[in-house]
Amino acid sequence: MHQDIDHVLFSEEAILDGIEAVAAEVTEAYRGQEWTVVSILKGSCIFASDLVRRIPIPLQMAFVAAHSYGKGTQSGELHVDFLPNGDEIEGCNILLVDDILDTGRTMHALKNELLDRGATQVKTCVFLDKPSRRELHLEPDFRVFEVQNEFVVGYGLDFAGRYRNLPYVGALKPAVFERIEGEEA
Ligand code: 5GP
Ligand code: MG
Repeated sequence: MHQDIDHVLFSEEAILDGIEAVAAEVTEAYRGQEWTVVSILKGSCIFASDLVRRIPIPLQMAFVAAHSYGKGTQSGELHVDFLPNGDEIEGCNILLVDDILDTGRTMHALKNELLDRGATQVKTCVFLDKPSRRELHLEPDFRVFEVQNEFVVGYGLDFAGRYRNLPYVGALKPAVFERIEGEEA
């Protein structure tokens, strides 16, 4: 896997330092409240796990699954695979957590879905923010890092289902896109 990476954008150490700082902000925002961290699968599971372990106040966890990317690097139509139970949404203060805010379609759709189903409040927290690609007006309430318009993998983010388990964030070598797309064609 490592040999497929062209360059590293965020090392494991930088990632954990960044998460520590955001966890402190989130802690202050929710102190004294009943609240639920809703992690968007699969991409945000690694980020959410590191984030919640740095938040020293009570919280609940729930999960939603959505996918829009398929095998490639272009945003497609969003499919919601599953949502939390009704009682984990209705009347809840939700922090919706994703790996990356790109066009904004995923976060926008899921935020509205949770509000439609009776959530009291939905805030957003993303590991990476790619504002140059935004199609919908949506800014994250909390974010760890901003990235340029470049396709990145690792720390939960995949290409064709792979590389989620890299402990850092990096950009793939151009030849890798061609190789994997060729394998799957
Ligand atoms: P959006 O709906 O904001 O366009 O896209 C959000 C989803 O697209 C993310 O949850 C992620 O799965 C995928 N995505 C967007 N940009 C990247 C990227 O640079 N790398 C990877 N691996 N996935 C991305
Ligand atoms: Mg994804």
